[in-house]
Amino acid sequence: MEVLYSSTRDKSKKIKASEAILKGLADDGGLFVPDNVPQFDFSLSSLKDMDYKATAYNVMKLLLTDFTEEELKYCINGAYDSKFDTEEIAPLVYADGAYYLELFHGKTIAFKDMALSILPFLMTTSAKKNNVKEKIIILTATSGDTGKAALAGFADVPGTGIVVFYPKNGVSAIQEKQMVTQKGDNVKVIGITGNFDDAQTGVKNMFNDEELKAELKSKGYVFSSANSINIGRLVPQIVYYVYAYGNLLKNGKISDGDKINVVVPTGNFGNILAAYYAKTMGLPINKLICASNENKVLFDFFETGKYDRNREFILTSSPSMDILISSNLERLIYTIAGCDDKKNAGFMESLKTTGVYDITDDMKAKLVDFVGGYASEAQCAAKIKDLFDKTGYVIDTHTSVAASVYDDYKAKTGDNTPAVIASTASPYKFMHSVMTAIDKKYDGVNDFELIDELAKVSGVDVPGAVEDIRTAPILHTDVCDKEEMKSRVKAFLGI
Ligand SMILES: *Cc1c(COP(=O)(O)O)cnc(C)c1O
Repeated sequence: MEVLYSSTRDKSKKIKASEAILKGLADDGGLFVPDNVPQFDFSLSSLKDMDYKATAYNVMKLLLTDFTEEELKYCINGAYDSKFDTEEIAPLVYADGAYYLELFHGKTIAFKDMALSILPFLMTTSAKKNNVKEKIIILTATSGDTGKAALAGFADVPGTGIVVFYPKNGVSAIQEKQMVTQKGDNVKVIGITGNFDDAQTGVKNMFNDEELKAELKSKGYVFSSANSINIGRLVPQIVYYVYAYGNLLKNGKISDGDKINVVVPTGNFGNILAAYYAKTMGLPINKLICASNENKVLFDFFETGKYDRNREFILTSSPSMDILISSNLERLIYTIAGCDDKKNAGFMESLKTTGVYDITDDMKAKLVDFVGGYASEAQCAAKIKDLFDKTGYVIDTHTSVAASVYDDYKAKTGDNTPAVIASTASPYKFMHSVMTAIDKKYDGVNDFELIDELAKVSGVDVPGAVEDIRTAPILHTDVCDKEEMKSRVKAFLGI
């Protein structure tokens, strides 16, 4: 059955998947959502025999219905190859009562690679299908990981260019070095003197700037987005939850149809939303446990039904989750509002003008599958150490936020349903925080000096992504105010 996409703020106009991928964000500022969520057309037990690529094909074809089999397989085969350092692509590791779904085996050692490895293929294939003649300019705001993963994916891809904005003082040393050393003739990396929300708002404003868009078009450019608001990111993220279920089945950890819990360290709400779609499509998920760090807007939302971004923005050791405006939540709000676009648009207007919206009781009742939790900086560090002391397994700060929240959940509820924790980054990406959690003696030591120490402690080889940047020259040094973002983009494009 054909799946079409419409905006969460005006569903009167429907477009194809490939068009939604090209546009990224709807013209009215809303996010594209499928007009119906298809059900799996394969049995759960058949997952046992599918590798990552086969799982990806079987899941993605249900949502990207205007792609031919040949097109979709070309995208999948191009993405999930030796760029990943393990053939499994997303291995599942058991440690102390939970299964860690390692989503960091791609080029930039964070889970963003899972979708951003395939997005350039989906985007260029979509451009071809729709006879797009303009050069596609990817505008991206990053809290640290999306930026590098998008740069790695789009660098030197013909017919595209990419500009990445990151909060100058809001990312880890490794994250920044990864970005500012990016090679490629079509790439630009700019630090902004603000936080992630400022960067994201600046980018969204450019997408909604009709004058700018018209000017670009006349010069042969169109904008698109690599942020998780693009359905070309969301759809590939559904795959690994399904793959993890198949892995548990294959290894006899669960039986066909058994439920699992899923725990996701959350920022922009993209990753956990993908798990929610997986559940809607037929994956037996019991609870979706949404873990926040001290920026616990989402925890408060799940507790009270009130979304309130009016609070202090806290810089934490899990910077990729330092977000107060979780963009993808809009897709969930739209869904639990009964796909009422006007009602959703009202909430989003209220968020924009007052920073707050309050959902209705009926909508709240539809959130039963979600559980919110949060971990303090101390809890996050304690969990890294505790898990390491017990098992020798080293997790990063984001994953630890999730693991800590999961411990609380189990203690509170006694729910022993097998749990998959999304392990969203390699500990090598947040070395300083991870190592000082394990032993205070590393405090103050530079990230780059800790690389070999972490290898020794964890027994995990230094990933290629880290080796590469140790000596790489810095190629990007631009920093600007949030007000200057637009002029910087125009300067990069020479207009
Ligand atoms: C982006 C990111 C997150 C948050 O994911 P969302 O989809 O934005 O909720 C968590 N951990 C890491 C390491 C990330 O890079």
